[in-house]
Amino acid sequence: MVFGPISDGGHEQVSYFSDPETGLQAIVAIHDTTLGPSLGGTRILDYETEDAALEDVLRLSKAMTYKAAAADLPLGGGKAVILGNPDDLKGDALFEAYGRAVDCLAGRYITSVDVNSGVEDMDVVARETDHVVGTSDGLGNPSPITAHGVFHGIRACVESVYGTASVTDREVVIQGLGKVGQSLAEKLLEHGASVTVSDVDESAVEAFAREHGVDTVAPDAVYDQSCDVFAPCAIGGVINDDTIPRLDCDIVAGGANNVLAERRHADVLREQGVLYAPDYVINGGGLITVAKEYLGGTREEASEEAAAIGDRLLEMIERADDRDTTVLEAADAYARERIDAAETVTPARPT
Ligand code: NAD
Repeated sequence: MVFGPISDGGHEQVSYFSDPETGLQAIVAIHDTTLGPSLGGTRILDYETEDAALEDVLRLSKAMTYKAAAADLPLGGGKAVILGNPDDLKGDALFEAYGRAVDCLAGRYITSVDVNSGVEDMDVVARETDHVVGTSDGLGNPSPITAHGVFHGIRACVESVYGTASVTDREVVIQGLGKVGQSLAEKLLEHGASVTVSDVDESAVEAFAREHGVDTVAPDAVYDQSCDVFAPCAIGGVINDDTIPRLDCDIVAGGANNVLAERRHADVLREQGVLYAPDYVINGGGLITVAKEYLGGTREEASEEAAAIGDRLLEMIERADDRDTTVLEAADAYARERIDAAETVTPARPT
């Protein structure tokens, strides 16, 4: 069963790399390069089985195809996993070997940071290949730009539900006060929203509440808090069969990845009259930033492109209404149409 899982998901290429000297075992999955070279981070995890690693990299690379297409980027979807315990593996020799592996794909795959890999690791990878972003020479921390895109996505949702994009006096509950959540909260406050924050890290919540004079809610009570917008900015799977009946909001729109426990929860939210902004569309600002780094451009340009997430999301919401379907379905269709409309593979990096 070599080709089964690959062709079933529509993947173009899966490459396995092994370097006994450094212990490197990596899988790079290239899902689709119709719109341009594939881009996606490198996840380092001690998977229980090799099959679990393959399954993860196939799923993640396919998701990147949709994310790039929905962000109007000239990029395809790819992802890599390095198998093993990050604490045991990490070292310059391993990342150099990994850089050589990425390089031999000749730009069909561009790597970056992900779970357990960071900027300093990408700096080592960059010694061996040009096909890496998220290095210390790059455009810097993408999180504020991600938050900027989420802010504009929230405005689009607010416009659709209440008839005006203004967030002034709108009640927004933010789950997770990390890099994205804090930046989003500050932006919303600047624009007059009424913000309530929540985090498992009590000291972070207290410090933020003291500085900005906002209300707080305990992590386990966050789903019961009445509000206009619930903005998940922490972990995945928070919209599920247990939490949906508790929600007292009109909109779910936040920066976190994999917000829905299962795809069908988008339908359940819709049936309950809650507008759900697909996570991979609204949090595309991070990808837009690293794409700009690879293609050449500035943080300001990345920020402008992230702001355009608002208009794109509004278009998807309107299409979902017209077709009597979820915004998630409309977003997937938008991405697929872009790929189907592309006639040839276009090299993304200017020559
Ligand atoms: P982060 O680690 O800086 O912040 C996450 C915060 O969530 C932390 O403060 C943590 O204490 C808190 N948290 C964890 N579990 C929680 C819970 N159950 N309830 C409340 N708070 C909880 O991460 P980040 O970079 O801000 O990213 C947040 C989310 O956005 C993640 O899902 C990430 O994958 C996604 N995302 C981030 C970016 C980016 O540019 N940083 C881009 C796209 C998507």
